[in-house]
Amino acid sequence: RSKELGKNQVQYYTHDFHANMQQRMQLENELKLAIKRDELRLFYQPQVDATTGALAGVEAFICWQNERRGLLAPDDFIPLAEESLLIIDIGRWVINEACQQFSTWNKLYDLKNMTFTIAVNISAKQFKDHGLFDYLRACIKSNEIDAQLIELEFTESSLESSLDAIDMLNKLSDIGVKLALDDFGVGYSSLSQLKKFPFDVLKIDKSFVQDPRDNGNGLLAAICAFAHSLGYETVAEGIETEEQKLLCQTLNVNRLRGYLFDKPMTAKELQKSWLTHLLKYFTV
Ligand code: C2E
Ligand code: MG
Ligand code: MG
Ligand code: MG
Repeated sequence: RSKELGKNQVQYYTHDFHANMQQRMQLENELKLAIKRDELRLFYQPQVDATTGALAGVEAFICWQNERRGLLAPDDFIPLAEESLLIIDIGRWVINEACQQFSTWNKLYDLKNMTFTIAVNISAKQFKDHGLFDYLRACIKSNEIDAQLIELEFTESSLESSLDAIDMLNKLSDIGVKLALDDFGVGYSSLSQLKKFPFDVLKIDKSFVQDPRDNGNGLLAAICAFAHSLGYETVAEGIETEEQKLLCQTLNVNRLRGYLFDKPMTAKELQKSWLTHLLKYFTV
């Protein structure tokens, strides 16, 4: 019996494997057309200054609005985009879109008097795009953006990659773009490697803020102390409760982001609920 069962399992496995391969290829083919069909969208989530509660900027997240599949979240297609290297074109689309939107907001609102940054996620695979630096610089220039107000977020897997990564990060840093290390603490990069890279900001992963096992929040406190003593600015992600907010404030985290403040939303929604009342402060 067990032999039979084993055989069946193999059959199921091959069947699933083919079905999955087919679905994957179909998804990949549709994703290839997504830019041309104008199906990609950016959503923006506010970041607030932890001391004043004022809007400090936004982080842009990509979504894919597909007629047949509905609205797909980044986790549903970014891994595939990375494997297939479609991320190179998609990544450029994200940069261009974010710069254009930022320029539009600069014209509509009085952002000059505040430090309003726009954060964009960059995949480690985009280091393979050797034209990325020039592309970004051209977008910054044509949209008349102050490079310091653009923040690029890289995950720790970027640190493992080649000299290409260090080279590109140094070039970006030289023109004033801010560099952030995303999901800090959950990767496996060694702390001694960190200073080789020109990061300005450490984004503390939400698992540290939300971990109920971190009794007395010793781990979170140690990470914050570490980051600040090395001169990094800090952003805490995944703030969902008042308690988490207060804790991060006590630990001198610089910026906060999470559902407690707001969810990711369209550019229009952000305008309505945040940018038209730039003086909207959270009680901190
Ligand atoms: P990330 O950059 O670390 O983004 C944080 C994720 O947490 C986002 O999920 C965000 O919507 C979600 N989030 C925000 N506030 C809260 C909260 O209070 N609680 C919880 N539980 N979650 C919160 P999302 O939009 O699904 O993005 C997932 C990941 O996909 C991102 O992680 C980023 O690594 C990647 N990604 C998103 N947009 C892009 C993009 O344009 N390009 C690239 N290369 N990657 C992207
Ligand atoms: Mg991010
Ligand atoms: Mg993150
Ligand atoms: Mg992430």
